[in-house]
Amino acid sequence: MLRLFLLVLLSMVSPCLTFPLAPALIKRSLNIKRCYNNSLCRTVVASAVVVRSAATSSTTSSSSSSTSPGVASRQQPNNRSSANVLVFDSSNENDETTNSVVDDDEATTCSHEEDEMMVTMKNFTSKQRKRRPILPPPLPKDFPDWAYEPRDFFKFEIIHESTKSRARVGRLHTPHGIIDTPGFVAVATNGALKGVDFRDADDSGGGVGQQLVFSNTYHLLLHPGPDVIQAAGGIHKWTNRNAPFITDSGGFQVFSLAYGSVQEDLSSNGGELKRASVRSANGDKPGQNVIGKDAVKVTEDGVLFRSYRDGSRFLLTPETTVQAQKKIGADIIIPLDELPGYYTDRAALEESVDRTHRWEARSLQEHLSNVQQQAMYCVVHGGLDAELRQKSVEYLTSLPFDGFAIGGSLGNGRDELKELLTWLMPMFDEPKQTNGDIGDDDDNHSARNRHLKPRHLLGIADEASIRNAVSLGIDTLDSAYPTRLGRHGTLLSRDGHVRIQKSMYARAFGEKIDADCTCRTCQHYDRAYLWHLFKANEPLAVALGSLHNIHYINNLMAELRQDILDNRI
Ligand SMILES: [Zn+2]
Repeated sequence: MLRLFLLVLLSMVSPCLTFPLAPALIKRSLNIKRCYNNSLCRTVVASAVVVRSAATSSTTSSSSSSTSPGVASRQQPNNRSSANVLVFDSSNENDETTNSVVDDDEATTCSHEEDEMMVTMKNFTSKQRKRRPILPPPLPKDFPDWAYEPRDFFKFEIIHESTKSRARVGRLHTPHGIIDTPGFVAVATNGALKGVDFRDADDSGGGVGQQLVFSNTYHLLLHPGPDVIQAAGGIHKWTNRNAPFITDSGGFQVFSLAYGSVQEDLSSNGGELKRASVRSANGDKPGQNVIGKDAVKVTEDGVLFRSYRDGSRFLLTPETTVQAQKKIGADIIIPLDELPGYYTDRAALEESVDRTHRWEARSLQEHLSNVQQQAMYCVVHGGLDAELRQKSVEYLTSLPFDGFAIGGSLGNGRDELKELLTWLMPMFDEPKQTNGDIGDDDDNHSARNRHLKPRHLLGIADEASIRNAVSLGIDTLDSAYPTRLGRHGTLLSRDGHVRIQKSMYARAFGEKIDADCTCRTCQHYDRAYLWHLFKANEPLAVALGSLHNIHYINNLMAELRQDILDNRI
């Protein structure tokens, strides 16, 4: 207040002298005013998502006449301590990103939690900060004993194991419902299925419905931000979907943008790398320097990257991704991992696997500090290198994770994926091998339950790969593949893909997409009408096509479960 008084006094005496000092004085005054009752708070920007450069921003310039704290903070791009947890500067702006800027009301609040996040960010972004030392990953005994005990809110029940293959039927119990396994996990990148209402997907007809849904922390981090979802009461209340969700760490999208040049090489069948589009789920054009190796910087702390939305720089660490996923509140969360490129040499791959282990252990520690009825799956890495995969399985399954996801490079095509899973999946069943990296004293920990925990395959869900993966012991798998195909007019059927925009379907009256499909699309519409909707670019076409494909895959999973129960596969 004293500074404000001085400012007014100086303005009266000498406006010219005062003008250059005004923004800083106003901002400092407001800082003191807003945070006087919180000794830990050091800045007014409590929930600000982006700190902007006024010099390059026409949007900011147009609103800079306001003296609101939010606007003032946007004019301080170099005041990095005023950024919140993950974003700290921006060089590009457009209308799209304007929505990411905190409104003035948000900027007037200040909490201890937010302050802790800011301090965290300050530590990470200070040029003078000490580099985090590279230490061996923690041993199983370094985690508390209770972490190895069964959870009362999350349980995997194996109902039947096939006598013919490694396939098994199970049931995952989560706080928001049961997931029958093997099960398909639909991808709702931005907290929504593309073109399909959750209510339709969850009950798509014929008693078949979507159970587990996968949302991407990376996208939710950029918009609307975890704080908004937390304020809504978590992702279930925010989306009004009282059914299971899983979120990833965000790391996958960060690295796949950086390695965009090898994106197409990694898998020909819609594998993990294709889950992230360079143009993003929104179809936005990326900003400058958000793609390519210069877009990310990996340190022991975490990974620094630029937003595809506006070029803002984010720091994602094992701790911050878990904090974000705590706010989002999915039933299952995933630790930070590094995704190396497909052509990484072995030494670099091993270094990456080791770093991933350290990051995942840190993520787990952060998670265990506040479990809040969430399960955490590890992500097994090692690419196509059997020795590194074994090392990854041995270490990660020795820690108190609730399930195991298989990530990293999964081969170039279905055949390589099948080959990989053929030698990888038995590692989840074999007795643990003593390994110097793990220690000899973890026999009493989770390795004994390795076989009993769920296994998730990241980013694969074409029909042929599903059949292969299920017979090799995969319990759940996610992919945007069915919805992506559906909205572009490729509809799944037992007789192969139906490319509905072909003129041959113009008069396919009374002919369903799939003769036996029980979905709502097939209950009401024939190929002829769908052909017209797609050719006319009617939005309804996207909804009907995507719903059919989601239902088709879920129905396929139900049939596979029955086949396993009958020991046919
Ligand atoms: Zn159908």
